[in-house]
Amino acid sequence: MLTVAEAQRLVLREVRPLPPMTRPLTADALGLILGEDVASDIDMPPYDKSMMDGYAVRCADLAEGQATLSVIEEVTAGRTPRLPLAIGQATRIMTGAPLPDGAEAVIQVERTRALGDGRVHIEDRPPALGLNILRRGQEMRRGDTVLTAGTRLRPQVFGLLATVGRTTAALHPRPRVAIVPTGDEIVEPSQLPGPGQIRNSNGAMLVAQTANAGAIPFDLGVARDRLDSLRPLIAEGLTHDVLLLSGGVSAGTLDLVPGVLLEMGVEPHFHKVEMKPGKPIYFGTRGVTLVFGLPGNPVSSLVCFELFVRPALRRLMGEDDAGTELTELPLAIEFAYRTDRPTYYPARLLSGTDGPTVFPVAWQGSADLRSLHDATAFVRFPAGDGHYRAGQRFPVLPCDA
Ligand code: AMP
Ligand code: MG
Repeated sequence: MLTVAEAQRLVLREVRPLPPMTRPLTADALGLILGEDVASDIDMPPYDKSMMDGYAVRCADLAEGQATLSVIEEVTAGRTPRLPLAIGQATRIMTGAPLPDGAEAVIQVERTRALGDGRVHIEDRPPALGLNILRRGQEMRRGDTVLTAGTRLRPQVFGLLATVGRTTAALHPRPRVAIVPTGDEIVEPSQLPGPGQIRNSNGAMLVAQTANAGAIPFDLGVARDRLDSLRPLIAEGLTHDVLLLSGGVSAGTLDLVPGVLLEMGVEPHFHKVEMKPGKPIYFGTRGVTLVFGLPGNPVSSLVCFELFVRPALRRLMGEDDAGTELTELPLAIEFAYRTDRPTYYPARLLSGTDGPTVFPVAWQGSADLRSLHDATAFVRFPAGDGHYRAGQRFPVLPCDA
């Protein structure tokens, strides 16, 4: 059977970033990834500018650090100076304002005293040439590439894009993800389950996981375990970038999903992975559409999404790092656990004085969602009869976003 790492490689091998589309740089683009290099259309700053409120001076006048100079004008931000600085003169200048010709340094206002008669007295160290001045183009020159394709849109990137005059950019779009829970026993959350029935928890959970991964969920509703119910919903699902099915991929007589997918032209890449929970997971593709058959047990569905679907969504959105590498953390407590397959066990991350540790929660297996309400991660234990010490390190799959 495939290992999780091998299965993740098979998934990522099939994923190409969605082609970038030009769109407005509104707040809902936060987190998206640039699909183009971006160059500046201006020099920044566009003029030599003061970085302080103070006085623009010539260095020769302050060779001793002290001088009394006559103030020839005041320049606030947004104004331009009219008078060049001559020997013995200073210009009162504000942060961000353009410097007058001849200015070589700005003395911050705290080091000066206005004498009230049009003069200022300065007491400071002799200023270095360029003190408190940002020269034109020092931050960027017109034509400079200031952002490269692959950059994620964080708030500071929005600021930089605005600086260079961009209101739109080519961005990898959010994947459209169809969600189809399956099962004759599934009823809507608003209904009271009858005999043999169970509420649809996976639908709501997959919608939330999809949205949280930055993709757009389309809940297509529950398919029954019948060909005439599965076929139309799968056909509609296949028009999306990703189709997530839950249930119907195990070894039961009504686990019809893989057969219907094959009949509809989906090429299977794997079915079953050496893991717990989640062993029956299925993955296939039709064209560029990725199809995941997630096992129906709620915790299996949750874990399989985090291990296989989330990395694929990151890749579709242009992220270089699919996020499949797990960091190892020490166990918070001694723990005994016996399992026949590598197991992703619900746990809580704790912040101890020596850094984070991982605390396995009490758990009844893959159908038990209740124990997960305060789990923030899964800790991976190897197959075998394990008696683990507190402090022993294990890989941790975060699940708290
Ligand atoms: P299956 O993978 O279809 O064999 O389902 C495995 C188990 O998960 C069964 O106990 C199902 O009732 C349960 N199950 C399947 N789909 C869902 C769902 N959408 N919500 C909650 N439980 C489900
Ligand atoms: Mg089923």
